[in-house]
Amino acid sequence: KQTHEKMTEYLDELEFLAYTAGAEVLKRFSQKLERPNPKTFIGTGKMEDVAAYVEQHDVGTVIFDDELTPGQQRNIEALLKCKIVDRTYLILDIFAQRAQTSYARTQVELAQYEYLLPRLVGLWTHLERQRGGIGMRGPGETEIETDRRIVRDRITLLKKKMKTIDKQMSTQRGNRGALVRVALVGYTNVGKSTLMNVISKSKVFAENKLFATLDTTVRKVVIGNLPFLLSDTVGFIRKLPTQLVDSFKSTLDEVREADLLLHVVDISHPQFEDHINAVNKILDEIKSMDKPTLMVFNKIDAYKAEAYDDDDLMVERTGAHYSLDEWKETWMSRTNGDAIFISALNKNNFDSFRKKVYERVREIHVTRFPYNE
Ligand code: GDP
Repeated sequence: KQTHEKMTEYLDELEFLAYTAGAEVLKRFSQKLERPNPKTFIGTGKMEDVAAYVEQHDVGTVIFDDELTPGQQRNIEALLKCKIVDRTYLILDIFAQRAQTSYARTQVELAQYEYLLPRLVGLWTHLERQRGGIGMRGPGETEIETDRRIVRDRITLLKKKMKTIDKQMSTQRGNRGALVRVALVGYTNVGKSTLMNVISKSKVFAENKLFATLDTTVRKVVIGNLPFLLSDTVGFIRKLPTQLVDSFKSTLDEVREADLLLHVVDISHPQFEDHINAVNKILDEIKSMDKPTLMVFNKIDAYKAEAYDDDDLMVERTGAHYSLDEWKETWMSRTNGDAIFISALNKNNFDSFRKKVYERVREIHVTRFPYNE
């Protein structure tokens, strides 16, 4: 049952990703296998089911919730005769659609070419094997060689471009002086942009889709005469393509150089604990796990304790009706250190939230400007 729920949750997320990319999802298929089929990812019988459905409903694209090897991708394409997209490709596509600054566009383009390169190589070896490697030294080889060279040149160029922008950005970060830096981190769609809007009273793009935030926004915020910098970073996601972890390194620099992290959690999401773990894993990868962190449990207006786990809370009320003292008694508060429970949408508990942020920023601020004490 546990694994079935997990699978449903992963496919829910994939469907959400597909919707974000502009696709309409017609049907889901799932299969339990010890390990993926090396040639076709899913088993033969399941593939027949999918093929029949694709043909019957004139399906344009089949999406897989994992990264397919170049070989699998080709084999499946040959069997289903429609476009085959894997999770990595889908995520890259969404990032490409949403990149706004030239920096973000460069990052995504680089990641896309890195994804493409082994697939060009694969295409060649595939053809070679199929045709016995004889008589293929003609235009086919030249073409693929040319393609590969073009892609490699492009990758080199983009990497150079990134280096230049990286330098500029790090200088910009350096120029921000000794102001305390706070970074909003959290799983995608938890309400980071919304929170940024309400704290900084500026308009940041927020919508109910994954990855609405791609480019880092940095705002100067003042709470009680205390100025600090607040940055809103790219939404983290489970199974983030490795191409992206690398190319979004500088985006994550904002997190790495932050003095305080506000880890935002969508408490109304049934799998919010998995989300916290996914975010912590990335924080660990960029060596930012030990930073001072305030856990911000958001969307309490949409939270309803489930009958079986309401250790302290009343079932009939949504989270918006709990008092702060009641929240303090919950396991979320007990296990996650310094925590606060809010609704960015309805501004529930917003005064306490601002006060808390103020206190934490002030602690850091006074170590830098002791004469202000
Ligand atoms: P981000 O991806 O983390 O930046 O998330 P967004 O700020 O774009 O928000 C994602 C969705 O959650 C949007 O539809 C928001 O309106 C919604 N949202 C944000 N905060 C809250 C909240 O406190 N309660 C509820 N119910 N929805 C919220």
